[in-house]
Amino acid sequence: MREIFSSLIGNPYIRETLAPDLAAGRAAHGYILSGPSGCGKRTAARLIAAASVCEHREDPSHPLPCGTCPSCRKILQDISADVLWISNGDKAAISVDQIRQVRQSLYITPNDGERKFYIIENAHTMTPQAQNALLLSLEEPPVFVTFLLLTEDPASLLETIRSRAPVIHMELFRPDAVLEWIRKQKLPSSVLSDTEKCTGAAMLSGGSLGQALTLMTEDETKSEALRMRTLAIRLLEGIFKMRTSELLGMAAGELPSGRDSMCLVFTMMQSALRDLIAGKRRADVPGQFLLGTEDVCRFAGKYSLSRLMALYSCCGKALKRLEANGSLAPCVTGFLLQAKRL
Ligand SMILES: [Zn+2]
Repeated sequence: MREIFSSLIGNPYIRETLAPDLAAGRAAHGYILSGPSGCGKRTAARLIAAASVCEHREDPSHPLPCGTCPSCRKILQDISADVLWISNGDKAAISVDQIRQVRQSLYITPNDGERKFYIIENAHTMTPQAQNALLLSLEEPPVFVTFLLLTEDPASLLETIRSRAPVIHMELFRPDAVLEWIRKQKLPSSVLSDTEKCTGAAMLSGGSLGQALTLMTEDETKSEALRMRTLAIRLLEGIFKMRTSELLGMAAGELPSGRDSMCLVFTMMQSALRDLIAGKRRADVPGQFLLGTEDVCRFAGKYSLSRLMALYSCCGKALKRLEANGSLAPCVTGFLLQAKRL
C-alpha cells in the first residue's frame, strides 16, 4: 500500500480524504489544522504543501509526498518561494495589515510549482478585522492558492471562515518519527549522541515534537522523567539478566532517595512491561514507552507471557505498598527479590 504521510499516526482524514485529493491535484483553497502546541501542525502543513505539488504525486509507487523530488525538497527544507508564512511572532495578534499584505500578493503566480501556499500560524490570534479580510480571499482565491490555517483553538475562528475550510484535527506523531526528528535538530553533538536521552525524550513526548524538544534541552537536573525512565529500564534489564546479588547492589547504588521518584520508576516499569506484553501478543504493535530496539526488549524475549504478566502485577503491588507509605528501601528490595523468584 502507498505510504502516505508516514510519519503521522492515525489522521484518517488526511489519509483517506485529503491525500487522494492532493494526489489528483484537487487541493482545496483552505484547510484548518487544529491541535495542541507541539503536535506537528507546521510539519503537517509542509507535508500537505509538498504532497500538492510533488512531482510523483500521481505515481502510487512513490510515497506521498515523495520527499525527494525538487518540489518536495524545497518545501520540506523551508526554502520554497511558493510557501509564505504569516505569524503573530512576538505580538499578541495577527493584524489586519498583515492580511492586507497577503491580499496584495495573492494574484502573483507561483514561482516554481503549480500552487502557492499561505500558512497562517496561530490563526486564532487574528483580530476580527484580520479574519474578515481573510474571508474575502478565502471566498474567491486564485485557483493556484491554498491557505493553511494552523490553530490550537478553531472555535475562535469566525464561523464563516470555518465553513470555507475543512478542520483537520491533528493526531500525534509516532515515537519512531519523533526520534528521527530529534536526531535532525541542531543540538550539541554530546546531547545527540546520548542515545538513551534521545530515545527517552521520544517515548516520553506523547507524540509531541515540542514536548520532545523540551525534554532534550531542559536542564539535566530538571529532566527527572528522563532519569527515572533510564532507571526503570535498567532495573527491568537487571531483573531479566543479572544475578540477584548484582541486581540488589546496582539498585542500592542508583535508586532515588525520594518516594515520589521511586513511585514514578514503578509506574514506568509497568508501562514498559505493558509494551513487552503487547509485543509478545503482536510483534507489530508500536511501543508506547519502549522503542522496539531497546535492549530490554531483547532480554525480555526469554521471558514467557505469563512470567511478564506476573512481573507486571508484582510491580503494581510494590507501587501500592510504596504509595501507602511503605519504607522505600525494603519495598524496593522486596520487589526485586520477588521478581527474581518468578
Ligand atoms: Zn515529491
